[in-house]
Amino acid sequence: MPMIAVTPSWDNNTRRMVVNHDYINAVTDAGGIPAVIPPIGDAERLRAALDRCDGLLLTGGDDVNPACYGEEKLPCCGELTPERDFAEPVLIRRAMERGIPILGICRGMQILNATLGGTRYQDIALQFSNALKHPCYDIPADDAHTMRLLPDTLLRRVMGTDQCMVNSRHHQAVKKLAPGLRASAQAPDGLIEGMEAADGRPILCVQWHPESIQRRLPEHLRLFRWLVTEAGK
Ligand code: MN
Repeated sequence: MPMIAVTPSWDNNTRRMVVNHDYINAVTDAGGIPAVIPPIGDAERLRAALDRCDGLLLTGGDDVNPACYGEEKLPCCGELTPERDFAEPVLIRRAMERGIPILGICRGMQILNATLGGTRYQDIALQFSNALKHPCYDIPADDAHTMRLLPDTLLRRVMGTDQCMVNSRHHQAVKKLAPGLRASAQAPDGLIEGMEAADGRPILCVQWHPESIQRRLPEHLRLFRWLVTEAGK
């Protein structure tokens, strides 16, 4: 059974790791074993921990430090987690070296894009004109807006549809894609909410939270099935 490395959130006030159990359920529902790798400050140990795993799941959380993509932090940028900003790029580079699959969700999409040289809007409402309301944190049904999955993408193939309903719990989004990545999903206002490797490497990222809706909307479970299946190869 493939073992999937899961990155936790880190609360510096209480010095605790936190992982939403939806991520754990989604990995187990898809047939994998979740293994949480703490954001330790030692790159060698991080790489050694990842080497015992077969795939990488980058979870949501606080904003990525704009310094990671060469920008000043604006007042509209949210809380940062320096521990994750250090650990996750180490894990991403190692996963890519080994060719094991990466599924990046929300912050996971942003840190992967930043690690490979992309940038992002520090706040959509302030920096992207005519944006939909993307920070929707308290909608009971969790359905926020539709998503168009772009033609000839791995994402569309994996989800088996060209459109789906998604939740939206983000106030940031990709501005410039990193070299080697291409857009795979677009919100009705034009924002990029999905990206993948342009050269066929096993990298899928989405801005929404499939882990929260995969038991109700099975096309979202397919993302985790893809991760576990690729990890088993
Ligand atoms: Mn959105």
